[in-house]
This record gives sequence, structure tokens and C-alpha cells, in this order.
Amino acid sequence: MASTYITTTIPYVNARPHLGHALEYVQADALARFYRGAGERVRLQAGTDDNALKNVLAAQAAGLGVREFVAAFAAAFTGLAGPLSLSVDDTIRTSSDPRHRPGVERLWRACAARGDLYRRHYEGLYCVGCEQFYPEGELAAGRCPEHGTVPDLVSEENWFFRLSRYAPQLRALIAGGTIRIDPPARRNEVLALIDGGLADFSVSRSAERARGWGIPVPGDPGQVIYVWWDALANYLTALDYASGGENRRRWWNDAHRRVHLLGKGVLRFHAVYWPAILLSAGEKVPTDIAVHGYLTENGRKISKSSGATVDPYDLVAEYGTDAVRWWLLRDVPKGADADFTEGRLVSRANDELANGFGNLVNRVVALICRYRAGRVPVTSASAPDAAALETAIADAPALVATALADFDFRPATEAVWAIAHEANRYVSRTRPWDLAKAGADADLDAVLALLLRACQALGALLAPFLPDAAERITRQCTPGATGELPRPAPLLPRITRSRRELCTI
Ligand SMILES: [Zn+2]
Repeated sequence: MASTYITTTIPYVNARPHLGHALEYVQADALARFYRGAGERVRLQAGTDDNALKNVLAAQAAGLGVREFVAAFAAAFTGLAGPLSLSVDDTIRTSSDPRHRPGVERLWRACAARGDLYRRHYEGLYCVGCEQFYPEGELAAGRCPEHGTVPDLVSEENWFFRLSRYAPQLRALIAGGTIRIDPPARRNEVLALIDGGLADFSVSRSAERARGWGIPVPGDPGQVIYVWWDALANYLTALDYASGGENRRRWWNDAHRRVHLLGKGVLRFHAVYWPAILLSAGEKVPTDIAVHGYLTENGRKISKSSGATVDPYDLVAEYGTDAVRWWLLRDVPKGADADFTEGRLVSRANDELANGFGNLVNRVVALICRYRAGRVPVTSASAPDAAALETAIADAPALVATALADFDFRPATEAVWAIAHEANRYVSRTRPWDLAKAGADADLDAVLALLLRACQALGALLAPFLPDAAERITRQCTPGATGELPRPAPLLPRITRSRRELCTI
């Protein structure tokens, strides 16, 4: 049986999660649910990066102990699994999970044994927001391109990783598709980065500068392991890398896919540093690196510091899980940035969930209840004028599979939506109530049977995207012990825009 390992990035926890985190979680969850539904073994892995220096700084600013501070915010991230209906199999917290530190140390020792770690004096410009040194040439007018802040000048003795040694091998793996970076524009970006020359990079900090937080370098307690090394290692440490157990074999070494989902801002770490560390340690590299863009809200950059962002918890409380997931999967273009507004979310939910899926299933079940006493017609007659709807039903599974293999959620959801769209048109065109009036029983049986099949297909195909709604649809379209369909009940109600947003416009 094929095994698929899917990871989300582990966010640093200096504030509450925003909608961009929800996007990555929901994308990863849809993939995990899809592959599980296809009969694969799947592990969806999430976690939090507790050891970042910016967590320490945020805790100090809040006047709290680092440990209690990161625990509180980590809970806000892992807690999203409930409201977003995420099927996360495991969550790792890098500061407290007993699997993590020994795994990080083991990875360090494996690279050291290969001769890839060495000490050297270093001076550079460091952005705490990014937790990375920037060469002058990559700064924008002296400022971090990601944060717009002036980096700190840092001068200290650090451990370095011999990244330069792995440039040719890395290039070949990426260009040859062994490591697939998607979308292709991101792969080209990484290839250009490699072609520009890969310098060895610093993989430790003085324990003093790290405020004593983080994992000490094995055998050199005056140094703390670079937080990106520590964070990237979670993809292995969560698989009991240190103890070398069954999880490591099943989900890494023998996995059919090792998929990392991530935002464009952390591409270099995942597509260059991480595979190089794995090569050095003698481990397999990821098969897929799927990169998403950033969300803005009402045209403004989502920023933890501005406090102007929509909290995903509030959004779900206001509009429900299905509406939030549907917007994230249906409206955000692959690999690109997208602008969120509550108006867009509400329009999508009303047009497609309430008026599309919900209304269709209700109409069909109501028709079967009225004309066939709730019993699914058994018929060998073919339904009249059914080509477009039959095609939509027949084509959707392959279209969804192809789109998801490509990490492209819009065409995947579009293929499912097409069934509802065609089925609603089919109801209007065939007018089952007229068939009933005219006594055209054979046609009516065939029309109702086809429409119910369309609704059942929706229940099955929506499961990765809208697990809650899909379950309600399937229940509504499945005859009970009496052989009758349950009485039609509202599945996806219309929603109205919150007063909160109306006031801010
Ligand atoms: Zn930065």
C-alpha cells in the first residue's frame, strides 16, 4: 500500500494564527483526505516552531516566561484543527516534545560525521524576523526584503554547514524532478539560486544571543543550534528519527510521497538547506515541495503585528467551517497571492454551497419524497437529455485527481462544482413536476435516479474539501433501514455578512 507523508510548516508562535496559516492547513488536509479516500496510508503532520528567537523576544516584550508564552500560542495553532476540521495525525512542539531534541542532535551528529560542520568566525547582517543572515545584495535598500526592517550586524564564532558541497547534487535532483518543486516558477527560482552559487551557512548561534533558548550544539554548549536547522528537522524527528522506529521507515524511507507544503517566503530553507542537510546525513530527500502564496485582507498585507487581521477562529465562528474551507480552496489561485474579503467568502458560500450544493440536494430529495415516497427509483431506462450531467459526473474523479496531483485546488473544486451546476440545470430543463403531472413515470424514474446519483457523487467527491458538508450530503442521500431517504433538512444554509465588516468599510 502506498504511503504518503504530508507536512505543514511549523509556524513560530509569537502571536495567534492568521488566515494564511489556515490556508496551508486546509490545503494539506484536503490532500491528506483525498489520498486516504483513494486507499493510501497517509500521515498529516503539523507542529509549532517554539525555539525561534523571535518567540523569546515576544515573550520578553509581554513580560512572560518563554515556556508559558510559547505553550499558550502553540495551543492556539494546534487548536485550529477543530474549527477547520483538520485530520491532523500528529503534532510536534519543538520545545517540549521528547522526540525532537534527540532527533535534532542525531541529525547534527550525522552531518558532523560526514565532515560537513565546521567552526568559523562570522560577521553578517541578521534579520531576527527571518532568522537568517542576508548578503548585502539581497537586501532592499539595506532592509530585509521580507520584513522591511534594518537587520542587525552580528559578529561571532559559529558552526557552519558545508552547503557548497551539495550544490551539484541538489541541482541534479531538482532539475531531474526527483525533488519536484511546484509551481515550476518556484523550481526555476531555486535553480537560479543554486546557479548563483551556494555559500556554506551558519548553523549555530551563541547561546548568549539566543538568550539560552533552543537546543545546544552537541559537545559545544556555548552554541545553540540554528533555529531553522532545528525547525526543519521536525519533519524527521516527528517520525521517531532518534530512535529509528517503524514510523521513520514507513513515513520517510519507504514513503511513496514525502510532501512539504509551505509559503513562498521559506522556499530557500525547504528546497536548498533541508535537502542538503538530508543528503549530508544520508537520508532520503522530499519528493514534493508545494509552495503557496500569501493572503492579503481587503488589499492589506496580513501582519501579526498590525492586529488588523481576521482571526480564523472568529471567521469559523461567524460563517462556519464549510464556508471558510470552501473560500480557501476555491478562490486562492495555485501558488499565487490572493485577497480575502468577507464579502467574497459570503458570496462563494451563498452561490455555491447554499444555492448550489445545498439547494440541489434538498430539491432532489424533496422530489423523491413527493413523487416516490422517499424511495430511490429502480430503473433501467436512460434519463432523457442527460449527456452534460452524465459527463460532469463521469469526468469529475479524474479531474480532481489530476488537479490535486498538481496541488491545484481550484480546478479540483471546479470539477465537483460542475456536477452541481449541471444537475441544477438538469432539474430546470427536465421539470420533474411536469413529468409527474403528465404521468411519464419511466422518464421521471430515470431523471430522479440520475439526480440522486449526482448528489451522491457530490457527497463522495466533496469529502476532501468539505468533510462536514460531505458527510451531511451523503447521509441525506442514503436510504435508511426502511428503504426511504431521510426527510430533506437544511444542509448548507445561506449566510449573511457580519456587522463587523460592514462597519469597517
Ligand atoms: Zn526578515
